Amino acid sequence: MKRVFNFIGGDFHPPCAGRYLPDVDPATGEEIAEIADSDAKDVDAAVAAAARAFPSWRATPAEERSRLLLRIADLVEENFDELALLESQDSGKPVALARRLDVPRAIRNFRFFATAILHAETKCHSMDGAALNYTLRQPVGVAGLISPWNLPLYLLTWKIAPAIAAGNCCVAKPSELTPLTANRLAELAREAEIPAGVVNIVQGRGPAAGRALTSHPDVPLISFTGGTKTGADVMAAAGPLFKKVSLELGGKNPNVVFADADLDAAVATSISSSFANQGEICLCGSRIFVERAIYDEFLDRFVDRTKKLRVGDPRDPATEVGALISEAHFRKVAGYVDLAKEEGGEILCGGKRPADLPDRLRGGWFLEPTVVAGLDCSGRVMQEEIFGPVVTVTPFDSDDQAVAFANGSRYGLSASVWTRDLARAHRVAAAIDCGTVWVNTWLLRDLRVPFGGMKESGIGREGGFDSLDFFTEAKNVCVKL
Ligand code: NDP
Repeated sequence: MKRVFNFIGGDFHPPCAGRYLPDVDPATGEEIAEIADSDAKDVDAAVAAAARAFPSWRATPAEERSRLLLRIADLVEENFDELALLESQDSGKPVALARRLDVPRAIRNFRFFATAILHAETKCHSMDGAALNYTLRQPVGVAGLISPWNLPLYLLTWKIAPAIAAGNCCVAKPSELTPLTANRLAELAREAEIPAGVVNIVQGRGPAAGRALTSHPDVPLISFTGGTKTGADVMAAAGPLFKKVSLELGGKNPNVVFADADLDAAVATSISSSFANQGEICLCGSRIFVERAIYDEFLDRFVDRTKKLRVGDPRDPATEVGALISEAHFRKVAGYVDLAKEEGGEILCGGKRPADLPDRLRGGWFLEPTVVAGLDCSGRVMQEEIFGPVVTVTPFDSDDQAVAFANGSRYGLSASVWTRDLARAHRVAAAIDCGTVWVNTWLLRDLRVPFGGMKESGIGREGGFDSLDFFTEAKNVCVKL
């Protein structure tokens, strides 16, 4: 059985306590590796290695840091097929999606921040001949980076790339459920000759390794992506130590379809925004609101397309919906289907394990894409993040009601709005309380734009210079003239 160690100070080390966790392929239920079950001692060693590397890395010219990041990007690209397969095997996602989304985005993340640092500018405030102020942006030190299992390499590199591009050293903790691509990335970082200690990866469980990182006194910055409840734990640990914290948390995103929308495009993209990655993307539009005049037609077409989605072996390039991440998560998501029935909803399709899976997948965690209608917006199914292939569809009667429905959530991550009326698009986009509004599209990402959530979807913005600002401290220097 393959053993996944920690990457500390440029080398792979077994966990101090010698304990391991099973890593399971969610499509088959089989154990595929054992991963380090790290604790505070491993985190201490990683933080010490990062702190040792920091003085020299922060002094490394931006052009050299840029060159090294571009080298990692090239190596990720050279190992594209292997990384896509590993990601699919570890998370249950279709390999086609890993090839289309996860691995290309990991490459873009490194290239984007490698070149962004070459274009960074700083501010200068002149005081009418009395003094000149200028702002220095300096790296913070050891950055603690914690990422979830749904987009493992994509989200991990979205943190590592800006952190080290800005001159920090980092200790990253991937999800215990998806350690494999992070481990491969560590090998590639070594091959790229990133100096020892600049990137450290500690594998293991959140409450042990993750908590040790968020409460570590020598880690002044935490970038966390994960669930809202865990985000509160991270905040509680980091707050008393006055760490810089960025939290990218859960969502319950509205997808609002007006009667004047391009219905073909709205239906096609709503299929993706509902069920891509088995609905396990924080940005998925899980609450669909449709203007009453087209409600029946939208629903017919949407349900028809949903039933045709190919659920099955993630390794098959034709598969569109793979396995959920784990048994526990499958039970949680399936529990919401039962709850939807209890709350008076009608299951229009899906809601059960596919009947015709091949033998190889019998132990896997598959759920048919599920569409629910007839629910009250205030019920639990429409209020709580399900994070699986389950969406609700609800009619609305006016722009004001659409906005009220969209905002009737404690989350505020993203929204999609479908309309051909430009003025309405601007009005509704401005009125929805969330960090990103897509008009007539979904998941179209420009890496320069601010990304993050309002309300319980998070704190702070990452992306472009927002990321580089987060991973640096602003220092004002005032020179008397
Ligand atoms: P979790 O919050 O369970 O875990 C996220 C990460 O935090 C994992 O590495 C986890 O480790 C670790 N962790 C768990 N407990 C602690 C703790 N007490 N202290 C420090 N770290 C801890 O989220 P999931 O992995 O289940 O991911 C799904 C969630 O992520 C969804 O809510 C989704 O909406 C959100 N998400 C948000 C995104 C955004 O950009 N806003 C993007 C993608 C996902 P371990 O796995 O070992 O438990």
